[in-house]
Amino acid sequence: MTELPTDPLDPIALREGLVAHGFIIPTGVKGGDGRTAKFEDILDRFDALVMRNARDDGAEPLHFPPIVARTLIERMGYLGNFPQLIGSIHSFFGDDAAARELAALADAGERWEHMLDPAETMLLPAACYPVYPVFSGLLPEGGRLVTVRNWCFRHEPSDEPTRLQSFRMREFIRAGAPEAVHEWRDTWLQRGLALLQGLGLPAHSDVASDPFFGRSGRMMAASQRDQRLKFEIVVPVISADRPTAVCSFNWHQEHFTGTFGIRRSDGATAHTACLGFGLERVTLALIRTHGFDLARWPDDVRAQLWP
Ligand code: AMP
Ligand code: ZN
Repeated sequence: MTELPTDPLDPIALREGLVAHGFIIPTGVKGGDGRTAKFEDILDRFDALVMRNARDDGAEPLHFPPIVARTLIERMGYLGNFPQLIGSIHSFFGDDAAARELAALADAGERWEHMLDPAETMLLPAACYPVYPVFSGLLPEGGRLVTVRNWCFRHEPSDEPTRLQSFRMREFIRAGAPEAVHEWRDTWLQRGLALLQGLGLPAHSDVASDPFFGRSGRMMAASQRDQRLKFEIVVPVISADRPTAVCSFNWHQEHFTGTFGIRRSDGATAHTACLGFGLERVTLALIRTHGFDLARWPDDVRAQLWP
């Protein structure tokens, strides 16, 4: 029962192994599996390790629900860039008669969603989104550093165990002088790599791009790469050729400071950057690398996660 799948990089075999060994609970929703206490323990222990590693930075922890204002999604430019990933919340606003009709349609096995209307909220696509409006106005001397952890939704249903519709990110978000923000991003890239490699993961970093939608999206992705705005740390989990991104580093330059009127204490131009660890993906990379039997994980890895 403790062996890895025969082809360890076969996504379906890995998924079956995760179920058989009591890490995930199938729900019938692609990318929406349940997680057992054993899975959650690894995820939380990794998050705690990240927070210990970042302790001296003094990031301010903020907490938001996994929903955002529809207007924030609009202002972030998400509709033009990633319409294929959107999660929109709809609810029922009708009267008694309409409610009876809604229930009757569902009971009869007919479609009923046309009786709903959009609510003022959408599902959060990235943990950092609610933070930028908080930065609006003049930043304190030296800028700001915030950390958040949240559930994120992206509509990308898949049988791959690493591609989820609902997953958690631990993010750090920095706003400040352009050079300081750039340097912070570079420092964290090395730090993130050292942290993941220190856990025995065969991790490396590379320039990356976001899955911008459509034909103009391909040009945006190319320009994002050319400007080296996005980096990822990747680990082979389900494929040796296409390793999985477990951590991303995004340098937004003036994109969000312009949108949200974020300026330095002296009124000068500010930049933002964020980095996000995909907590389920790191957990899966650890299980994939060290095996289904936690007692047999290398001692130094266990010592870091369960200090
Ligand atoms: P991104 O905002 O796309 O750079 O994503 C930040 C991090 O979230 C990535 O490095 C992944 O680790 C994780 N992530 C992104 N999409 C998914 C997904 N569909 N399922 C699980 N984790 C994801
Ligand atoms: Zn972010």
